[in-house]
Amino acid sequence: MDCIFCKIAAGELPCEKVYEDAHTLVFMDIAGDVDGHMLAIPKRHFENIFDCDGETLDRLMRTVKLIAEHCTKACGYDGVNLLNANGASAGQSVPHFHIHIIPRTAGDNINAWPSFGGATSNIDNIYQKLKL
Ligand code: AMP
Repeated sequence: MDCIFCKIAAGELPCEKVYEDAHTLVFMDIAGDVDGHMLAIPKRHFENIFDCDGETLDRLMRTVKLIAEHCTKACGYDGVNLLNANGASAGQSVPHFHIHIIPRTAGDNINAWPSFGGATSNIDNIYQKLKL
C-alpha cells in the first residue's frame, strides 16, 4: 500500500521517533507549524476512526496518554491539545489514522482551537438529529 505513514511505521521512510511499541508509533510532525507537534499512529493501516477497531483505538489512546503525561511530568509542559481529522471533509490530508499531540505551556499563545464562524442553526434542531 502506498501510504506514507505505513512506510514510516515500517522504517522505510525516516522519522524523528518519540516513542514506539509493538502496535503504535509517535513521531515529530514535519509541518514545523508549532513547537513540539507530534503524531501518534497505529502501525497497522487504518484510514481513520471509522475503520479502526476498538482494540487499536484503545492502544493508540493509551499511547497518547503516555506521551501527554511524558510532556507534563518530564518535559516541562502544562497541558496538551489533541487534534484529529477523520475524512476529507474534516480536513484529513493523510489517510492513515493519526492523532496530533501539541504540548502546551501557560501563556504560549498557541491558538490550537479553531476559530469557528458561528453556528447557523438552532442548537435544539441539530440536537434532534444527533442524539442517539
Ligand atoms: P492531517 O491533515 O490531520 O491528515 O495531518 C497530516 C499531518 O501529517 C500534517 O500535519 C503533516 O505535516 C504531517 N506529515 C505529512 N508527512 C509527514 C512525514 N513524512 N513525517 C511527519 N509528518 C508528516
